[in-house]
Amino acid sequence: MNADATIERERLDADVLIVGAGPAGLACALHLANLIERHTAANKSPALSTENIYVLEKAREIGAHQLSGAIMDPRGLRELVPDFEKSAPLDTPVTDDAAYYLSECGSFKLPITPPPLRNHGNYIVSLNKLVKWLASLVEKKGVNVFAEFAGQELLYDKNGIAGVLTGDKGIDKNGKPKSNFTPGYELRAKVTVLAEGPRGSLTKDLVNRLKLGGLNPQVYGIGIKELWDVQPGRIATGYVAHTLGWPLDSKLYGGGWIYGLRDNRVSLGMVVALEYHNPLFDPHEAFQKFKTHPFVRHILEGGKLVRYGAKTVPYGGWYSMPRSYVDGGLIIGDSASLLNSQRLKGIHTAIKSGMLAAETIYEALCAGDTSAAKLSAYPEKLDRSWLKQELWAVRNFHQGFHDGLWPGLVQAGLQFVSGGHGVVDPVRSEPGYKEYSKLNRERVLVDQSTRFKGDGKLTFDRLTDVYHSGTRHDEDQPCHLIVLDPNICVDRCVREYGNPCQYFCPAAVYEMAMEKDAPKLKINFANCVHCKTCDIADPYQIIDWVPPEGGGGPNYEGM
Ligand code: SF4
Repeated sequence: MNADATIERERLDADVLIVGAGPAGLACALHLANLIERHTAANKSPALSTENIYVLEKAREIGAHQLSGAIMDPRGLRELVPDFEKSAPLDTPVTDDAAYYLSECGSFKLPITPPPLRNHGNYIVSLNKLVKWLASLVEKKGVNVFAEFAGQELLYDKNGIAGVLTGDKGIDKNGKPKSNFTPGYELRAKVTVLAEGPRGSLTKDLVNRLKLGGLNPQVYGIGIKELWDVQPGRIATGYVAHTLGWPLDSKLYGGGWIYGLRDNRVSLGMVVALEYHNPLFDPHEAFQKFKTHPFVRHILEGGKLVRYGAKTVPYGGWYSMPRSYVDGGLIIGDSASLLNSQRLKGIHTAIKSGMLAAETIYEALCAGDTSAAKLSAYPEKLDRSWLKQELWAVRNFHQGFHDGLWPGLVQAGLQFVSGGHGVVDPVRSEPGYKEYSKLNRERVLVDQSTRFKGDGKLTFDRLTDVYHSGTRHDEDQPCHLIVLDPNICVDRCVREYGNPCQYFCPAAVYEMAMEKDAPKLKINFANCVHCKTCDIADPYQIIDWVPPEGGGGPNYEGM
């Protein structure tokens, strides 16, 4: 959705504009502010000011859209804030970990926890709280952090990226200004940093426009998570369990987790690669079934659901990394495919990439040169850092599981002993949406009343879960889920794939329904938890997720 060019907008100029206040974006802001402070104290020229760093966040408050498992390897944070243990909101250190294989009724504890799933020395955190804390450090440095502002559109000039237009506020559902209409800002910057997390809308636009894609296309998983308060004694604080197997069959790449937090709180969830064959597979329903397994049920029974959320995870790794620098711009964190999918960890890598971007930007500002040639120091710094070492060793890990769990484990073993090479290097991959098998059936509209409902105690339907995500959007605004050709939905997709959007969306946003004797795709956009799955997993690639009015979306408090 391009902004209305006829509207007059206020222009603000900054040195650096960071889009996304997650761990990568805030680490970039904080490290850059530290470098500028040292620069100023040493009286160096040119004069630089932390006030000329802007951070934009689309959520209603900082941290509200932050969702993760979340076990944090402290390596990145220790470099950013060496004494972080004194003040960071760390829930608990990991005290014990285990890996299980689940059958429908039984569980088998692996005799040893595979090295990637060992977590001694790591912390279980609430990413929401961690990010709020990081933002407070950033603001103390004088950096301007703006919540409720979505980066709607990248601005380009002859030198490359020139900044961002923030979204207009107060537009009604027909696209007309309401009485509270406020135009978006034209934020111009010497360097714009995209730290939008997985499948950022600006990053997607930039990568497509300038053809920055990596060797492999990016592939994703969907992670679905609940927080529970459970009865005392059900799980030890700091206990971490990862599961493989039921309810996922061995062709699906994914698994579950259960973490014991302080005060009898439990984080549990499931992550599944968005490259399955059955277009009617429902990740939310699979997660609900996971909770009925005796191994999980025993922990949750008598407890209470506190929070729900869903988010995608970039699995592609090193070979899916887009070119991460352009004239006037850098891409960092999950947006740059810098998550370790073998360890299922991306917080430490996001922080490190933000710091390396900050060092690059600082050098560029000092030199008065923010061209691509100067900013190409960023991937060179990545190459020389532990981040590259860590991700290079697992560069083929996810792709090795293309043919299922058991062949994947063999490949993973070979990669482990060969430093990531395995039998073939690189292992090439396709985007996940190409993996669907066609149904080729008569038009069948699913009766929504027959969908999974749950028992309301241990398992829940999607709307109950959405309620627990704290999601809120003003319903009188344009729909932010743009279906580029709705005819495909009712003419082709319904027959070829059975409208998988009704199944993969974890927030019951999409519904095929009869309207005036004709099928129509209904989009309940106010439920959207901003996971981006529809933008990724739609088989025709005709769903474009664009940011809704700033401040809309989930509120992942404590997640
Ligand atoms: Fe996720 Fe798309 Fe559903 Fe929103 S509409 S919750 S982005 S799948």
